[in-house]
Amino acid sequence: MKKETSDQGLPRREFLTASAATALGSAALAAGAVTDGGSGNVKIERIDLFPTRYRTVGFFKFFQGPGGSYGRAAVTLKITADDGTVGWGQSVPVARWSYETLDTSMIVLRDYLAPVLVGRDPVDIAGAQAAMDKALAPAFTTGMPIARAGLDIALHDLAGKLTGRSLAKMWGLPRGGPLQLSWTINARTLDEVDKLIDTGRKRGYRNFNIKVAPDPKFDVQLAARVRRLVPNGFLWADANGGYSPAEALEVAPKLADAGVDVLEAPLRPNRLSGYRALKKQGALPILMDEGVVSPVELEEFIRLGMLDGVAMKPSRTAGLSSAKRQIEILRDAGLMWLGSGLCDPDVSLAATLCLFGAFGLKKPAALNAPQFLTEDILKEPLKIDGDMIEVPDGPGLGIEVDEAKLAAMVKKTRPVGKRE
Ligand SMILES: [Mg+2]
Repeated sequence: MKKETSDQGLPRREFLTASAATALGSAALAAGAVTDGGSGNVKIERIDLFPTRYRTVGFFKFFQGPGGSYGRAAVTLKITADDGTVGWGQSVPVARWSYETLDTSMIVLRDYLAPVLVGRDPVDIAGAQAAMDKALAPAFTTGMPIARAGLDIALHDLAGKLTGRSLAKMWGLPRGGPLQLSWTINARTLDEVDKLIDTGRKRGYRNFNIKVAPDPKFDVQLAARVRRLVPNGFLWADANGGYSPAEALEVAPKLADAGVDVLEAPLRPNRLSGYRALKKQGALPILMDEGVVSPVELEEFIRLGMLDGVAMKPSRTAGLSSAKRQIEILRDAGLMWLGSGLCDPDVSLAATLCLFGAFGLKKPAALNAPQFLTEDILKEPLKIDGDMIEVPDGPGLGIEVDEAKLAAMVKKTRPVGKRE
C-alpha cells in the first residue's frame, strides 16, 4: 500500500515537489519513482530521512559545526517495505573530519541515492550497491561514503528483519562480544591529561586512545604522560593526517619510545610514498583510516606496502558490505584491523558492534559515543558495563528506534540548508 501523506501530513505529490522539504525537518521518498530492479515479493516502499544533532559532553575537535554550532550531526534513515517491515540506518557526517556535512548528506540521500532504492527488493543489497554506484559515480573511490553508509546499514537491518536473522546469522558468523571500549583523550594542554584519564577510569575504562598532531613535541610528551598513568593499557595514537612526511618519520620512533602501540593516519591519505616510507621505517605499526573507503584502494594500498592495518569503521566505508569485505581482505593478508568509528550514535553504533562482534575484534575499540553523546533514540539503550559493551542481539541490528525521541530531536535541529 502506498502512503499518500508524508510524516508532516502533506499530500505526497505536494511534499515531493516542495523543494523546501528538508526545511520541514525530514524528507520522504515514496514508492512509484522507481519500479525496476526488484525480484522478490517485498519491495521498498518509502525512505524517510531525519536530520539531527546529538547533544554532546566534553571537548572533541570534530563536533564544531557551521555558525558556531556544536553537536554530533546524523541523518537517521527509515526504510519501509510494502509489507510494513522497517529497517533503520544512520549516516554520520563530520565536516571537520571529511568533506561530508549534515546538509550534503541530506541532499545526496534525498535526491540521488534513496530514489534508486525505492521499488527494489530490499534483500538484494548487492543490487542496491550497483544502483547507487550508477546514481552517484565513484571518483577516486565510492562517492559520499558517509551518507551512503546509512542506506547500506538500513538495508542490512531491513533484510535481517524480513528474514528473522541477526546480521551475524546473515553472515554465517557468531554474534561475538562483549567488546571492550577505549577512552578518547583529546587534550589541549598537558595539564588536563590527568583529569581526562581520571574521568575515563571512573567510568571503568582501562585503555586510552590519544589524538595527536600537528605538534610532534607536544604529542611525545602527551604519549609519555598517558603511558605513565596507564602502564598496561593499549595506547593508540591517531594523527588524523596531521603530520608532514618528514615530521611523521621523525616522530614515529619517539612515540614508540614513549609507549605508543600503533600510529593511525600520520599523513593525509594521498601521501602514498610517505606511507610507504613509514611502513618501511617500521618504528610503529602504521594504520590507515580516512583514505580507505572501498575494498579496491585497500587492495592497492596493501600491494604498494603502505600500511600494517586499518582502523575499520562502517560509517567511513559506505557501510557494512564494504567494511566486512575489507576485514576479510586484511585478515587474508595477515594485517591488523582495529575497531574504530566516527563517534557513531545509536543505530550506526549498533551496526558497527554487530560487525566487530561477528569478526571477533580483540583490541579495545575507539567507539566513543558513550563518552561524548548524552542522548539516544533507542527504546532500549545499548548495554554497557564499565568499558564493556554488548553486541546487540535479535533480527537485523537488534535494536528498536523510539520514534517519539527521534521526532523530538529532529524538532530541535536547525532546518537543513539554513544557518544556525
Ligand atoms: Mg582515525
